[in-house]
Amino acid sequence: MATTEPVSTLTDGTDGSASDDVTPASEPSGTARDATADQAAQGRRMLIGLLRPYRGRLAAALLLQAVGALAGLAPLLAVIELGRELLAPGPVDHGRAWTSVVWGAAGLLLRVLLTAAAGGLGHLVDGELHLSLRRSLAQRLGRVPLGWYSHRSSGEVNGVVQGDVDTLHHLIAHAPGEFTSAVVVPAASFVYLACVDWRLTLVALIPVVLGVSVHRLLSTEERRREGMAVGQAMGRIGASSVEFVEGISVVKTFGGAGRVHQRYRRAADDFADFFLGYVAGSAGLASLSALVLSPPFVLLLVLTGGTVLITEGSMPPADLLPFLLLSVALTAPVAALGHGMDNIHAAERSADRIHEMLSVEPLPRPVHPAAPHGDRVEYRAVGYAYDDGHPVLHDIDLVLEPGTTTALVGPSGAGKSTLAQLLPRFFDPTQGSVLLGGADVRDIPDEELYQRVAFIFQDVRLLRATIAENIALAVPDAARSEVVTAARAAGLHDLVQTLPHGYDSVLGEDTGLSGGEAQRLGIARALLIDAPVLVLDEAMSFADAKTEAEIRRALGVLCAGRTQLVIAHRLQTITRADRIVVMEAGRIVESGTYSELMAAGGRLADMWQAQHGPGAGPQGEAHR
Ligand code: ADP
Repeated sequence: MATTEPVSTLTDGTDGSASDDVTPASEPSGTARDATADQAAQGRRMLIGLLRPYRGRLAAALLLQAVGALAGLAPLLAVIELGRELLAPGPVDHGRAWTSVVWGAAGLLLRVLLTAAAGGLGHLVDGELHLSLRRSLAQRLGRVPLGWYSHRSSGEVNGVVQGDVDTLHHLIAHAPGEFTSAVVVPAASFVYLACVDWRLTLVALIPVVLGVSVHRLLSTEERRREGMAVGQAMGRIGASSVEFVEGISVVKTFGGAGRVHQRYRRAADDFADFFLGYVAGSAGLASLSALVLSPPFVLLLVLTGGTVLITEGSMPPADLLPFLLLSVALTAPVAALGHGMDNIHAAERSADRIHEMLSVEPLPRPVHPAAPHGDRVEYRAVGYAYDDGHPVLHDIDLVLEPGTTTALVGPSGAGKSTLAQLLPRFFDPTQGSVLLGGADVRDIPDEELYQRVAFIFQDVRLLRATIAENIALAVPDAARSEVVTAARAAGLHDLVQTLPHGYDSVLGEDTGLSGGEAQRLGIARALLIDAPVLVLDEAMSFADAKTEAEIRRALGVLCAGRTQLVIAHRLQTITRADRIVVMEAGRIVESGTYSELMAAGGRLADMWQAQHGPGAGPQGEAHR
């Protein structure tokens, strides 16, 4: 199956980054503490901002929920009244008893209706917010520089688009109901009980006071920070497992499965240690809180207090009934509020990450759109820095004449990919400019640019769609015959013919593609775009000679007559390039034809000797 994640993402994601995140959380520096507090405040602001358009409907949901919660007390009050009636000396007043039952049933019905309405409204708002957030995220992700994706894993992006948006669900659809009930029910119960007997009400409040005190001990700033760190570490583990699974074929191809798996396990173990420490720190207090708020403890207190009051004759026995039924309602919300707060904190963190993704600077659209005249490419004094102050390209001047092949060679990290990616605007240069047909690529509208510049980098992205749709990705209205012609030229047609649904086979469902086949699909895609300029990373990570020969043949068809910028990894493939550009440390250090550079005995000659041994001459077929 074709792979989508580079090995570096796998190793970066699992090798230490998760544990790096975990360790410092227990000993935060002042700056880290400020940063976490800022992040929480920022998350809160983001959340409020996200919910602002829905505040009217959320308020209505709260109101419905509040009235529903009050109505929900009616059955309990009815039971209390019924109890009083039945326990009272003398004959039972059937009329009063039935009135209590009817009021109780009506309250129950009202509660069901209002709670359902509040829940429905909350879910409607939730649905709208989800849709609008996912639309905005999709829109933004479609406009961010392509290069933004190269240092982000799909697990990370998915974590925000799917996971974080889902985390908001509880907050919008459930939390308002929980919170309203948690405030309204105990408040009303308190007032009622205080009217019955204020002394026993004070006894019933003891668990609440104890519970709140223990909760305060549990929700210190430090615990909050640790909770946040646990969330982040959990996110990392999630992201790295997605990467591990998605990239498993790459890992296996390069024989690193054991190593990477070990790293993943180490990250998971580190997380488990940290999590155990986090949980151990709070286990005692959490159990104490659970105990004092538990119904048996509350009932025990109330029964003891009530028995004392009844036996000394200062409270009628029937007054114990409301306490047995309602005192638990006083304590239950304390625990619910604790969980609710955890959910709100999680939602704040999610809102912060969503906001961060929505704030990624999109590639600026051209202010004064310009049309390229011709296909001459020119890098003019180009510099680029991924991070401020650390330029990886310096002062690059390079011209690709129409119809020529320029090969970029040099050691790993020399800046070849960065230089190549500036042409299809993976990033914009931080200095100088890249021109196509005399127009700055920043001024060329996207559609125009991508009709003129096609690129094939190492990882061909495949969509879960039919083979025909995958080939025609950039030209969706291409006729089937054009798709077939492109596939035929790319050497993919025979393979497609063997599939049960041919070009309508869905990738990932009906069939998968090997790395070499995916590469050929990428070539077919580029052939269909028929762009005059081609940026190509010709890395062939497919071991067998037959696959490589097939891809080379397909590339030969694709490249003929086009202006090409090729990142070359094996020197024998570039001997017939019109120009070879040798890069080192972000600069062009040599440039010329193969014979010129070999004759000059400079960097290329050294590299050639290093790859082929001293005195070796050119071999193999150049790709042009
Ligand atoms: P090459 O293709 O010659 O191997 P690259 O263009 O990939 O070189 O990398 C040039 C430099 O830029 C290297 O030091 C590399 O670490 C750095 N680099 C590449 N991609 C990124 C990125 N997404 N973020 C930060 N630094 C990067």
